[in-house]
Amino acid sequence: MSADNVKTSTIGYPRIGPKREMKKALEEYWAGKSSKEALTAVAKQVEEAAWKTQADSGINLVALDGTCYDQMLDHCTYLGLLPARFQELSGLDAYFAAARGHPPNITALDMSKLMDSNYHYLVPELTANSTPKPNWAPFLEAVRRGQATVGAEKAVPMLIGPITFTVLSRGDFDRSVMIQRLGPAYQTVLNELAKLGVPEVQIHEPVLALSAANQYQADAETVYQSLAGTVPLHLVVPYDDVAADVYPWLVKLPVQAIGLDFCGVPGAPHGNSTCQLIAKYGFPSDKRLGVGIIDGRSPWADNGTAVKVVAALRKHLGPGQALSVQTSASLQHVPLDLNLETELPTAVKSRLAFAQQKLEEMVAVKEAVTGHAGAASDIDLSTYTGAPTMGLTAKAIPTEFFQRPAPFAVRRPQQPQFHAFPTTTIGSFPQTPTIRRARLQYKKGTISEVEYRERIAAEIGYSIGAQEALGLDVLVHGEAERTDMVEYFGMKLNGFCFTQHAWVQSYGSRYVRPPLIVGDVSRQGPMTVHEFELAQSMTSRAFVKGMLTGPTTIINWSFPRKDITRSEQAFQIGLALREEVADLEKAGCRIIQVDDPAIREGLPLKTDRQALYLEWSAAAFRLSCGVATPACQIVTHLCYSNFEEIMAAIDALDADVLTIENSRSDDEMVRALSAYGYSRDLGPGVYDVHSPLVPSVESMAAKARAYVAAGIDISKVWLNPDCGLKTRRWEEVLPSLRNMVAAAKLVREEM
Ligand code: GLN
Ligand code: ZN
Repeated sequence: MSADNVKTSTIGYPRIGPKREMKKALEEYWAGKSSKEALTAVAKQVEEAAWKTQADSGINLVALDGTCYDQMLDHCTYLGLLPARFQELSGLDAYFAAARGHPPNITALDMSKLMDSNYHYLVPELTANSTPKPNWAPFLEAVRRGQATVGAEKAVPMLIGPITFTVLSRGDFDRSVMIQRLGPAYQTVLNELAKLGVPEVQIHEPVLALSAANQYQADAETVYQSLAGTVPLHLVVPYDDVAADVYPWLVKLPVQAIGLDFCGVPGAPHGNSTCQLIAKYGFPSDKRLGVGIIDGRSPWADNGTAVKVVAALRKHLGPGQALSVQTSASLQHVPLDLNLETELPTAVKSRLAFAQQKLEEMVAVKEAVTGHAGAASDIDLSTYTGAPTMGLTAKAIPTEFFQRPAPFAVRRPQQPQFHAFPTTTIGSFPQTPTIRRARLQYKKGTISEVEYRERIAAEIGYSIGAQEALGLDVLVHGEAERTDMVEYFGMKLNGFCFTQHAWVQSYGSRYVRPPLIVGDVSRQGPMTVHEFELAQSMTSRAFVKGMLTGPTTIINWSFPRKDITRSEQAFQIGLALREEVADLEKAGCRIIQVDDPAIREGLPLKTDRQALYLEWSAAAFRLSCGVATPACQIVTHLCYSNFEEIMAAIDALDADVLTIENSRSDDEMVRALSAYGYSRDLGPGVYDVHSPLVPSVESMAAKARAYVAAGIDISKVWLNPDCGLKTRRWEEVLPSLRNMVAAAKLVREEM
């Protein structure tokens, strides 16, 4: 078979640099320690090195990915659609003001998670009058550099499409009008790109993978008609399969190539239906099919199915069909290079592929299917979903494990009782330089484990003393021993692995290093009991809260396995946490908080798949806590203020107390919970932990009084901050909590 009609194409790559050069360059620039020129030079060098790596690996079509901060923000500037408040600034100043705010009072654009990934983009703000004033010069400059780096025949500019840009924006405007208004701005750049002789242009439209994407049909047909004809277009729809009602019109859009996701969400039991859609509806023979079969969102290596899927497609669509082997989503969601890891066990390492290794996989797949004999495939496209089947563990768990021994109404009177508006915090206290120094010294071996533990104990002692003095009702130990709420548990559980350099972008200059789940998860021994006992022994106050991270958050902030479902992994974690809950209670703990802030963000994009996800995530939470006696109060904490659509699942957690982020909203969630009929205890945050400002007594008392107006049962309301205080300083925390306790006292006296 000829190789002419099979290509390899990337659709995005990590923008960080092998040594996190971009992060360092940004931070130095923001700190005033380097110039614009120095920052731009690093950005160019990191971009060009990434493009060159892709070309050198044998990729035929290299997406010219790159950004100083975020591509949505880049598009705001290319399209001339930054909000008016940034217009007194220019160039990079305006750009970073939009990303991070500008003193004294220019607020940044809001951030939001991109699709169901852990990457946050900056949300454009549009109004009915927003009119593009395009300036594509910086974009075209990057394209020219791309051409110089990898050769004009391989350099593919990438754009976020007009539908996605509009749908992901916020504001009061007519969507269809705005999409069509963007058309001419895109035409301008396509004309320029045609002059530069690019082989094609990638236009990314992830929102076409949403369940509701069918409503964009008319908009898409009109705008893509207006863009057709200048230069070949490769329409990329990453992040999930497209809905069955979208596929038939999507493939008819006037573009030359369509890239689809053949992988879906790692470990999701529903799999991905792209193969089935193609088997059912076919694919136009005059377009290239972009086969996103190398998983752009999981660091696990391809297990041999990629070749089979591509071979099956070739047979199904005919050998003349043009195909490109690509990733299911931008590789920005996986770490850069597995070769940087020197400490991973070989057995694990051999099963992984980071961005750079995925390039090799793509080339290998192309070679296998175009090789002399062609590749064989036993895949039946009409049924193929690629999803793992449910294992045995979940089925073997007795049903009673998934529920508390008594309902909430019976439990509550047996649990700790307080005066009105009891006060508490969400768990963490400042991670001070002293704590960080101790951790570093311990890691380097300059202090012993005994010494390290003593220093942590001293921190716990300080936080307990402080809380007693402040007069809080329920104390916490402060989480000094934890760097991160997932890593800490991952390190103590069987089944997790940690990397040295596997950073992925969370937003801008922020990178996270998620742990890998590499085997069955189980508990080695108690994980938090020692710190609880220590803290409780330091106070005569009755209640120190136990502090755990819930199963779904552990999964969503890790790289899960792909060979078994996420639900099965969640149940394994649930069983491990269950042992911890039992041990904490045995140690005398009467209030246990299980944080599950990431439940909302893992919600599948497809509405018909959400119910299953919510069912297992709530079940895994109950599995963790069901072992607690009725007299033990289970608290949970969610960070995101908007969980209206998952209210039933929050109720299904069957926690005794729910604490939420609330201070910056107008009590929307409190009202929504009340309207829903949520009847358990509630701790709506009364102050913003992201701000260094000390909230006044009056502001927090007003919040407490407003709950009466919002219609909730005051006897069940707690006063607490929005979230943990680990990023704050004690100088801020002490007066803030002092005021919070005073506010509680004030409203109590008014009652
Ligand atoms: N207990 C955690 C803390 O206080 C909760 C963090 C979170 O919700 N993200 O830090
Ligand atoms: Zn939180």
